[in-house]
Amino acid sequence: AVEIRDLHKHFGKLEVLKGIDFAVDPGQVVCVIGPSGSGKSTLLRCVNLLEQPTSGRVVLEGVELTDRDVDIDAARRRVGMVFQQFNLFPHMTALQNVMVAQRRVLKRGRAEAEKIARENLEKVGIADKCDAYPLQLSGGQQQRVAIARALAMNPALMLFDEPTSALDPELVGDVLTVMRKLAEEGMTMLVVTHEMAFARDVADRVVFMDGGVIVEDGPAAQVIGEPQHERTKSFLRRVL
Ligand code: ATP
Ligand code: MG
Repeated sequence: AVEIRDLHKHFGKLEVLKGIDFAVDPGQVVCVIGPSGSGKSTLLRCVNLLEQPTSGRVVLEGVELTDRDVDIDAARRRVGMVFQQFNLFPHMTALQNVMVAQRRVLKRGRAEAEKIARENLEKVGIADKCDAYPLQLSGGQQQRVAIARALAMNPALMLFDEPTSALDPELVGDVLTVMRKLAEEGMTMLVVTHEMAFARDVADRVVFMDGGVIVEDGPAAQVIGEPQHERTKSFLRRVL
């Protein structure tokens, strides 16, 4: 679904990504782990071109996003993104939040957008909260609205950047359950997370990043259970 080749990203003199190579195949779940500042968020933001890579290639479903001539907006529509902060519109209900991009970006009619919004809110387990405003929802419910909003756009790839890090511990499980269900349904997912149990159980592959490079990339059980590199081992000792 997505292929990243020799991706570099500089912020001024600071080189944050130093040649990243990997791919996520259709239906795969890849978790990215690594210490703070290692470039995980920057990598995700380069995948949907929220950041312009300095060099290298990002190919999404055969379309090279890093090609100057490509229709970036069309390509970006194929990628759903869920952030640590939910970024819902505070003055819109859950239903309206899930409808707005469908209407404005995909130009779906009101009835169709509403139907799809309700289906996706049901899928994430909050069909009963359609008319609630974000402030009337728990963090976990808000994050599930954000997931429903992304799903309503029929993405080919879902990016998650620490989707549970801002949540109270008792709310983390509901969001992870939704993500597990998506994975089981075959959604292609690239997930930055500190939830090692989720990575171990759900991911097909785990990528360990440190200092802007991929140190280790392999099956989840191997990278988390039997890490090969000292940097991976010492990171896991700190987080497990
Ligand atoms: P965390 O686990 O804390 O979220 P991360 O692995 O996601 O960390 P990034 O957010 O990708 O790390 O940041 C990597 C490095 O790039 C950091 O040193 C950060 O300060 C720097 N950086 C990120 N965005 C920018 C920016 N827009 N301008 C300048 N430097 C940036
Ligand atoms: Mg980050």
